[in-house]
Amino acid sequence: MPLTVKSRRKRSTRIAVTILSGALPMLLGGAILYMQAGRALEQNAEQTADEALRQFNLMLDNTAEAARVLLPLAGNRCEDAKLALREQVTRRPFVRSTNLVWDNNLYCSSLFGDYQEAVNAGDYAHGQLWLMDGNPVTPNTALLVYRLSDDKKGALTTLDGYHLSNVLRLIGRQTLLLLQVGNHWLSADGKVHSGALSALPVAQSTRVSERYAFTVEAGFPEGETWRYISSEYPPLFSLLMFFGVVAGSIGHILQKRASSPSVELQRALEAGEFIPYFQPLVYGDTKKWSGTEVLMRWNHPKEGLVRPDLFIPFAEHSGLIVPMTRALMQQTAALLAPVSATFDGPFHIGINITASHCQDLELVEDCRVFLEAFLPGSVTLVLELTERELIEPTPLTHQLFEQLHALGVMIAIDDFGTGHSSLGYLRQFNVDFLKIDQSFVAMIGADALSRHILDSIIELSAKLDLGIVAEGVETEEQSDYLTAHQVDFMQGYLFGRPMPGADFINALSDH
Ligand code: C2E
Ligand code: CA
Ligand code: CA
Repeated sequence: MPLTVKSRRKRSTRIAVTILSGALPMLLGGAILYMQAGRALEQNAEQTADEALRQFNLMLDNTAEAARVLLPLAGNRCEDAKLALREQVTRRPFVRSTNLVWDNNLYCSSLFGDYQEAVNAGDYAHGQLWLMDGNPVTPNTALLVYRLSDDKKGALTTLDGYHLSNVLRLIGRQTLLLLQVGNHWLSADGKVHSGALSALPVAQSTRVSERYAFTVEAGFPEGETWRYISSEYPPLFSLLMFFGVVAGSIGHILQKRASSPSVELQRALEAGEFIPYFQPLVYGDTKKWSGTEVLMRWNHPKEGLVRPDLFIPFAEHSGLIVPMTRALMQQTAALLAPVSATFDGPFHIGINITASHCQDLELVEDCRVFLEAFLPGSVTLVLELTERELIEPTPLTHQLFEQLHALGVMIAIDDFGTGHSSLGYLRQFNVDFLKIDQSFVAMIGADALSRHILDSIIELSAKLDLGIVAEGVETEEQSDYLTAHQVDFMQGYLFGRPMPGADFINALSDH
């Protein structure tokens, strides 16, 4: 159907839906990738922390062993113990210095021999480990001191911070790795910091040593997840983009399909674009207006007034013809009911219906509502059902037609002569009128055979006691002929073309 209107708003909604259907899989995929990357970083941090913990434990084992060997010597003269202290420094790879303590007083050092310095157990985490940022010999160089004591005896062995920061650097690589001892912590650059440990923003993992008083923290800086995705998942990322484009395109195509004829008709129905036109029916003898046929027009915002044969087939096919007809009846009642007092005898109002109207009993209610709008007895509602698509006689259709008749509604067979309804059919449905198709009327004075058919129809309707309406009367000759043959009603351009409601009401008083 060429008749589609794409309003601005609809267009922007369509674009939004297209973008959304493209963005959704990308967002979803992005979220999954993000979670995946987060999980990978967490595993990475856990493994790194585990490895660092293992290394620090090994190094401290080595340092602690030196202290264990030296502890029995505490209390001995420094002169006698000095060599043993130096031997431990030489033999053990990570030990930098060894010291003996008696009664919280460091009195002998591998470096200086006799020495005097107070030892404060409170400096040591769990009385065992102290992370210092240097000593008088090497200020600004990290140092981890291990303390072992037994009553007054004590041994202090120190581990060089260089080895510690090396482990942090080599194992950590992309990971931020920190060694924490009590209130102090060491970073990979070899610096000792004091105070609360700064949180690692991404995938922070903590490992606590079971043997010594230290903790290892591993994690990543802010924004690492995105960096990881862009460096590790470029193929998946491209695939996501591809899916996004495909999904967006599918969304676009589906929407295009959605603006099919029935969607367009639905839109027009909601916008009230279907309006009634009125064509007068006249009495065969006096030519006074006896009624009207209501003909649907589509007042299309772009195409202008659209003929019914261009859209009625779509409306029938989609079933929308039922609500469209209902809207037409409502508009007709609203227009004609206010002038119904001026009608001279029951005014004939013809409404076209289709097979879709005969699938349930809704039509009865629509007709009841329609008739209730008028003064009682002021109108006769005639439903026109075209002969070309006559309905199947079923219990439901019988019930429908019975109820319609009970309401006083009449049935006309439209375009009579173009189909092949049997006499039996006409009786079964209690038909009230036949509308002779305009093709037969057009043949008056031209074709003897067609005129013969016309005569037969008129004769038949008289025998069956059916009212007769001649359609498409355009000339005086046709009108005279039909009057001479006692045709009850006529309709055609000779008496009036289909016209808008206001024009029809204006013309009504003259006729
Ligand atoms: P129809 O029911 O046979 O309606 C008569 C058609 O003949 C109308 O065409 C009318 O304008 C046209 N007509 C009337 N007098 C003359 C005349 O003197 N000469 C010629 N050449 N034509 C004349 P329209 O309005 O274009 O409607 C065409 C068809 O569309 C209708 O044929 C009817 O089948 C269908 N239709 C119109 N309105 C409705 C409706 O509300 N519901 C349904 N279901 N069908 C409708
Ligand atoms: Ca009709
Ligand atoms: Ca007709």
